[in-house]
Amino acid sequence: MVSEQTQVVSRNQVRIDRRALRHNFNTITEEVGPGVAVMAMVKGDAYGHGMTETAAVLAGCGCRIYGVAELVEAVTLRRAGIGGDIFVLLGFVAEEAEQFLLYDLTPVVFLHQDIEALSQAAVQHGREIGVHLKIDCGMGRLGLLPAEVPAFKQRIDNLPGIFLAGIMAHLPEADQRQAASTPQVFSCFQETIDRLGAGFTGVRHIANSGATMYFPGMHCNMVRAGISLYGCYPDGGASDDLGAGARLQPVMSFVTRVAQVRDLPAGSGISYGHTYVTTRPTTIAVLPLGYEDGYLRDLSNRGEVLIHGRRAPVRGRICMNLCMVDVTEIPGVAVGDEVVLLGRQDDAEITADEIAGWMGTISYEVLCLFGNNNSRIHIDGKR
Ligand SMILES: *Cc1c(COP(=O)(O)O)cnc(C)c1O
Repeated sequence: MVSEQTQVVSRNQVRIDRRALRHNFNTITEEVGPGVAVMAMVKGDAYGHGMTETAAVLAGCGCRIYGVAELVEAVTLRRAGIGGDIFVLLGFVAEEAEQFLLYDLTPVVFLHQDIEALSQAAVQHGREIGVHLKIDCGMGRLGLLPAEVPAFKQRIDNLPGIFLAGIMAHLPEADQRQAASTPQVFSCFQETIDRLGAGFTGVRHIANSGATMYFPGMHCNMVRAGISLYGCYPDGGASDDLGAGARLQPVMSFVTRVAQVRDLPAGSGISYGHTYVTTRPTTIAVLPLGYEDGYLRDLSNRGEVLIHGRRAPVRGRICMNLCMVDVTEIPGVAVGDEVVLLGRQDDAEITADEIAGWMGTISYEVLCLFGNNNSRIHIDGKR
């Protein structure tokens, strides 16, 4: 009998390890020390790890500050019961200014219309709102130019209901220890703030994961940790020191199950376009996932997966919902066997950085792709 309660789930499953997430947050918190706050960057659905679940886990280990891109994400967090400070980094439309007061959110500002709308909304509510000013000291992205900062601060000071609670900038190359831009951008940041004189006593923050790890002199009052929370190193794993041997732990893994095992003769073309043709009798395991699940077509004839703790190479093009791997060297592979696309199996491991290398991208994109295109389950340590 079929029960409506029977849970039917995808064979493709992203697993989020809460224990690793806690370990990484605690490691970063210890690394920066007691005088420095840690903002947990949970934009991008927490880099594919699930925004509200991630924020709730971090709240459980004392996190009090979160960073998101858009207002809608911040409101979602509040409605899910997340307390503390929630920063909206990418601005908002003026009509929505009131939401910052209703949900007690922290706006990052860089437009005159932002501060005017916030001031009006604050006055209407009989409240004061603290804002953080975004300046561009060489990132070449969002923010005010340093020369525009004094007048903008003056404007904030003159408006009722609003005050300057912090100033932030972003670093373009903090993932590279040697990059000359990092000290330059940092000096510009400090000088811009110094020029405001004693009139600014708020919070300063510029460090992403890269600067948090590689430039401890740039922690200021707060660091904004993203990729490191999720267990990857911003330089792609080229170096792996975060303080005294503390190792970050990958939080996400991605698994599927073998859908079919097929023995093919030499000379068989595999998948669309026959971009791979077998050169010997070959055993192929067919996997029920493809680019629709974030396992992108770039991984055709390039990716590897783990089966029985051993590596099996992808053969032929990756389809929307299928891909083929060569298990000729791995005896006894059967339908239903677990396949690890990202993460550990026995003593073997495939990291997000390794997959990023095959795809010509960075771990951030791999995590977003896998996490945001598959059903996620949360686990505590090993299953
Ligand atoms: C995403 C983001 C971060 C976090 O960067 P990581 O390299 O993931 O640590 C920090 N600051 C800003 C402004 C960001 O957009």
